[in-house]
Amino acid sequence: MSIATSGLHHVTAIAGDPQRNADFYLRALGLRLVKTTANFDDPGTYHLYYGDAAGRPGSLITFFPRPDAESGRHGTGQATCTAFSVPEGSIGWWRRHLAEQGIESEPVQERDGEEVLGLRDPDGLRLELVAHPQPDPREPWDGLVPAEHAVRGLHSVALSVTEEDATAEMLRGLGIDFTAQQGERLRFAAGDGGPGTLVDVVVAPREPEGLVAAGTVHHVAWRAPDEAAQLAWREELVGGGVDVTEIRDRQYFRSIYFREPGGTLLEIATDEPGFTADEPLLELGRALKLPPWLEPDREQIRRALPRLDLPAENNPGA
Ligand code: ZN
Repeated sequence: MSIATSGLHHVTAIAGDPQRNADFYLRALGLRLVKTTANFDDPGTYHLYYGDAAGRPGSLITFFPRPDAESGRHGTGQATCTAFSVPEGSIGWWRRHLAEQGIESEPVQERDGEEVLGLRDPDGLRLELVAHPQPDPREPWDGLVPAEHAVRGLHSVALSVTEEDATAEMLRGLGIDFTAQQGERLRFAAGDGGPGTLVDVVVAPREPEGLVAAGTVHHVAWRAPDEAAQLAWREELVGGGVDVTEIRDRQYFRSIYFREPGGTLLEIATDEPGFTADEPLLELGRALKLPPWLEPDREQIRRALPRLDLPAENNPGA
């Protein structure tokens, strides 16, 4: 057996104020808050998950927000851009929508057949909305952005590296293959090669080293179909000399973590059990959910977390 991920599972980044973070991803990007929980490794702070209606793998961006977080710096050894897939023909709608929300966006670029609109979230995290020529069949969340224009899920991430060879070799080892080059940007794809399977390795030897803090990506997770595949893949990585963590229970998936040679922290996360493991689909995101091992500390954790106001559209009919 050898590793062949089918695509991105989620991207996790660091943010400042949690309310500002939620307002941006729900109201401006039109995603759904699919889980409100604590950071299992730092339970006095939130872990917020945004995605499609059910928080399916490949639709997810998650944040560790803390109001007192220091700002990070984009640079090498990091995922320096997270791109979301939007329908062809929707980029003009998005420019107007973002402007109405008071959010600046960059001039639209055309990159190898794709239309790309760059912007930043309130903490400075670099994002792109990308219209890929291959139609994206994923069903969007019909929330605060009309379904015809809404984000379909993740499109890609860009990893900045000083040197590409070792990173490329590790990606190949995960079943993510080189497909195209545009200048200093090397595109790799997993699975079917459509939106949600892509990673761009950007060779930037003169860029400063990144600093992971607010406004930067913490790690990028790839999909494993189940726990058996994850265990087999872990053994394969260990056999290849990669320093991999033990399997961790993240309640909504199981995870292992390791660094690619360029410096970015990667994760392999299982598709199961998903976000309806501890609350019904209609109620996703509405209440603070904690894993069994943190339940005894619920009151203390709740008191440490600032209150979050969510738009009613996040839980229609609930
Ligand atoms: Zn993760």
